[in-house]
Amino acid sequence: MKAAIFEGPGKIVVREVPDPACPPGGLLTKVEACAICGSDLRAYEAGSKHQGTIIGHETIATVIEVGEGVQGFKVGDRVADCPVTCGKCKYCEAGSNNLCLQRGRVGGRPQGGFAELRPVLASAVKGGFVLKVPGDLPPEHATLIEPLACVINGQEKIVWRPGVSVAIIGAGPIGIMHLLLAKRQRAGKTILVDIKDGRLDVAAKFGPDHLVNGSREDPVEAVMRLTGGEGADIVIVACVSATAQAQALEMAGRMGQVLFFAGLPETSPTAVLNTNLIHYHELRVVGARSSVKRQWDEALDLILSGYIDAGAIVTHTVSLDDIVEGFELARSGKALKVAVKP
Ligand SMILES: [Zn+2]
Ligand SMILES: [Zn+2]
Repeated sequence: MKAAIFEGPGKIVVREVPDPACPPGGLLTKVEACAICGSDLRAYEAGSKHQGTIIGHETIATVIEVGEGVQGFKVGDRVADCPVTCGKCKYCEAGSNNLCLQRGRVGGRPQGGFAELRPVLASAVKGGFVLKVPGDLPPEHATLIEPLACVINGQEKIVWRPGVSVAIIGAGPIGIMHLLLAKRQRAGKTILVDIKDGRLDVAAKFGPDHLVNGSREDPVEAVMRLTGGEGADIVIVACVSATAQAQALEMAGRMGQVLFFAGLPETSPTAVLNTNLIHYHELRVVGARSSVKRQWDEALDLILSGYIDAGAIVTHTVSLDDIVEGFELARSGKALKVAVKP
């Protein structure tokens, strides 16, 4: 089959690799689409431990072979699968499977979705980590299930009250989904911050109250001004930037909540933060990573209901052969979400 191998920073190579076999107890699927995640972009720019492998985890695929002993799945089913977790550790028992120490490793490391074929692990099938996707949902739209589930997970870390002011740094697909879900939480004023005009132009149609271009004006000053000098009740960092993390603390109001949704590159994970702001303003700073199956179900419902207009967020589709072009498009800010179709 054809697959895209992530060979290191700035290097993704499409080539022929041996077809994967259908794992006993698992499924063999034909990839319909796999979207480029911000974390894939971060790996592409700064490298990651997954060098030398097929990456891509926002996948929708059709079952073409059912492994021995599998029940409940048949050829032709459309599936998306979330990371497998152990189900036994204290995190899994608390329902926070996304923090499981065995996450993504139970039964082996799954192959990514930037390929023509993809095996679904037996552990995923057995553990109930495979989601069935209705036949009429366009594949590009279905790729949004995973990132939207992560946004749902992030917003569950925040205590919401109607009318809260929300500043979101990063007007990419993640920032936009945060905006839409914040409105669903009956947020008051919403402010989107980015440093690229193109991004802000696209984001404008999702209805934030204010757009701030952080390359032209100080985003902290802008948010203070737009919130009557008080600072935002909630600040969400939805971009890979240590500067944005520092600014988030500065633009949060007293008793504000700050969500670090995006990680920093593995090679430079340190940010310089004014922790006095956490102390004197009694800020709550929380992190969020990944998602759990329950949030995948909710994400699918939000997409099917049309509340999240997936077609407006997945703005570009490229073929597997053109995956590098897809990464460059996503990086340029000209595209929101880019789906790759084998
Ligand atoms: Zn993702
Ligand atoms: Zn666990």
